[in-house]
Amino acid sequence: MRLTMLALSLLSASAVAEPYHLIPGAVPMNSGPDGNTIVLDAPKGLIVFDTGRHPEHAQAILDYAKARRQPIAAIVNSHWHLDHTTGNWDIRKAYPRVAVYASNALEGALATFLKDSRANTDKMLADPKTPAAVRDQLLRGRAVIDHPERIRPNHVVAKSGRMTIAGRALDIHLAKFAATEGDVWLYDPRTRTAIVGDLVVDIVPFMDTACPDGWSKALGEVAAVPFTKLVPGHGPMMTRGDFAAWRTAYDRFVACGHSSLEKSVCVDGWLRDAARFIDAEHQKYVREASEYYLTTRLRSSPAEQQKYCSPLKAS
Ligand SMILES: [Zn+2]
Repeated sequence: MRLTMLALSLLSASAVAEPYHLIPGAVPMNSGPDGNTIVLDAPKGLIVFDTGRHPEHAQAILDYAKARRQPIAAIVNSHWHLDHTTGNWDIRKAYPRVAVYASNALEGALATFLKDSRANTDKMLADPKTPAAVRDQLLRGRAVIDHPERIRPNHVVAKSGRMTIAGRALDIHLAKFAATEGDVWLYDPRTRTAIVGDLVVDIVPFMDTACPDGWSKALGEVAAVPFTKLVPGHGPMMTRGDFAAWRTAYDRFVACGHSSLEKSVCVDGWLRDAARFIDAEHQKYVREASEYYLTTRLRSSPAEQQKYCSPLKAS
């Protein structure tokens, strides 16, 4: 009888087990975003895909592991942007043996983009008008730039292929020169789920460190995988149809950026093509951000346009 009860409870536990657990990242208008976190079960513990920016997001990951009574065995970072990696340190403090998988793109970023953003951080911290909440976020970001070992991978993903992480086989993909110099995304054949980081996001593609044409190529690689569910870097889960619509909107926006059409035509085009991914609250922000990326990335000098299409080096 006892055995039967145990068998039944195990059965129901596995029947309700979700293929992955999503800890959504917030995209508030008054502070920096958190990327989505996805937690996967593996034989050796939990695999955490992206770790967010704010301490509250990292705490939600740690609380989930505690509730599951599972150690966090591995972290996979989609890319080095601090809204996806800052929480690595909180997790490493709790699980010092955690394996961290990422591309080596952080190194070029430290010598360039993050060096500039650190200088900017110091300027903002010196300004008495900077609000306390922003100050906390800046200090947290500066600490990981000053101590990159806190977020750096100890397993560098250098190519695409099947990898066993924490005892679980996953198809790991490395997209070079896309949203960053090296974007890692994964496909889980068991649940037909693609987890793609910022290669796909709702509202607007974050092109700050992007090679737009390399990114487009990466979207083609995602499309080639037989996923049925896709978890973007920001925003809710997508179907294949959602992804196809997002990809079309992205490619049209980049093509418009490369054309001689008025910027406002490209901005309106994005708002129309990506309408299903933009809520009312973010309309104004999306208009400003898409115009900003047209100016800084798609319509800047030829050298600037290509800046993120080859390895970043200190100038
Ligand atoms: Zn992001």
